[in-house]
Amino acid sequence: MPNQLMTNHISLNINGLDVKAPEGATILKAAQSAGIYIPTLCYCPGLTSEGTCRICLVKIEKKKKLHPACRTPVEEGMAVITDDSEIEQVRRVTLELLLSDHDFNCLLCPKSGTCRLQELVNRIGFDEKRLNRLNRVAKDLPVDTSNPFFDFNPNKCIQCGICVRTCREIVGVAAIDMGYRGYELKVSTFGDKPFTESVCVSCGECVERCPVGALIPKKIEYPTREVKTTCAYCGVGCGLYLGVRGDTIVKARGDCENPVNRGELCIRGRFGNKFIHSHDRLSSPLVRAYDPLERIAHGIDETSHPGKPLAAPLVKREGKFVEVNWDQAIKYVASTLVHYKGDQFAAISSAKCTNEENYLFQKFVRVVMETNNIDHCARL
Ligand code: SF4
Ligand code: SF4
Ligand code: SF4
Repeated sequence: MPNQLMTNHISLNINGLDVKAPEGATILKAAQSAGIYIPTLCYCPGLTSEGTCRICLVKIEKKKKLHPACRTPVEEGMAVITDDSEIEQVRRVTLELLLSDHDFNCLLCPKSGTCRLQELVNRIGFDEKRLNRLNRVAKDLPVDTSNPFFDFNPNKCIQCGICVRTCREIVGVAAIDMGYRGYELKVSTFGDKPFTESVCVSCGECVERCPVGALIPKKIEYPTREVKTTCAYCGVGCGLYLGVRGDTIVKARGDCENPVNRGELCIRGRFGNKFIHSHDRLSSPLVRAYDPLERIAHGIDETSHPGKPLAAPLVKREGKFVEVNWDQAIKYVASTLVHYKGDQFAAISSAKCTNEENYLFQKFVRVVMETNNIDHCARL
C-alpha cells in the first residue's frame, strides 16, 4: 500500500553519471539535483517553462536535434550530454543573437553584477566579429517611468517572458503580456499604456525576477546586511528579509522558505518601508486635551517641540500638540474611558499589533468596556 503513494523514479545517464529522477521531472531538474550545471535564462523556478531562450539545449542519445533541458521530461535509459564543443557553439550563437538586440552597456546598467545575461556572457563568451555583424540598429524605445517604484526599459529586455508568467501565474493579475510581432515584439500592458494606467498592482514580483536590467527598481542601494523578519503591515504576516545599510532599510525581499508567502510580497511589504525613517512618523500616542484644568489635574506638561520627531506621547490643545509622558497619557485615557460603557463604545484593532496584543485588546473591550463592538482593520 505505501508503495502506491511513492513516486516512481526514472534512471538516466547525464554526462556519464548515473542519475535517478522522479517521473515527470525535466532533464534540467534531474541535472540540477545531481549537481550538474546547465545554463538557463528564461527558466525561473516556480513558473511554467517555455524554453524560449534556447540556452539550455542539450544532446540526447539517438535523437537528432538538440532539446531544451527545461522542457524535456526524463525517460528511462535516456543518455544526455549537457556540454561539448557543438553544444557550446550553439549556445554561443544563441547568446550572440540575444546580445545583438540588447542595449549591451554593462558599465551604465544598474543590474550590472547581478545580471544573468552578463553571467552567461562570462561563462559562455561570444565572438566579437560575429556579434558586430549581427548587431542591429540600437533600439531607442521610450522607458516607462510611470510607476513610482520601478522603471521598465524595453531596450534592455531579452523577451524571456519571465515577467509575463510571473504576473499571470503567481500574482494572478496578468497586467502584462507579449505585444506586437517579430522584431517589434515587446512586453506590453493592455493597449501599450504606461504601467500606471494598466491593472498592474505594483507588487514588484516581475521586477524581482527580471534576469536583466529591463524591469528595475527606481532606486537601487545594496544592503550590507539582511535581517529576517515578518511584515507588520497586515494580518497575512509574510516572511521577508530587510536589507540594511548603516541604520537605513534599503531593500526588502520575500523569504522563499516562509510557508505563508513563499517569497512573494505585495506592494506594501516590498516598497512601503520609507515611513520607518520618516521624521513625520508618530512614535507615541496622541491625546486630545482641550480643557487646561483637566490637563493640570492629570499633571500634563506643555512643552512644545515644533518640527521635531515625536519621541513621547503628546496631547493636542487648540491645534497644537504638547509632549507628555506615557503614565500621563495612559492616566488621561483611562479617566476618560470610565465615562463610557456598552454601546456607547466601539473599538478598532490594528494589523500592526501582534496576535497577543489583539487578543488582549478584544478582551479589554469585551470585559472592561462591556461591548462586542470591536473590529479589525484587516476586514475593512
Ligand atoms: S508589478 Fe506585479 S502586477 Fe504589476 S506587472 Fe509586475 S507582477 Fe504584474
Ligand atoms: S522585462 Fe525582464 S523578465 Fe520581462 S521579458 Fe523582458 S527581460 Fe524578461
Ligand atoms: S502587507 Fe503584503 S507583504 Fe505585508 S504581510 Fe500583508 S500581504 Fe504580506
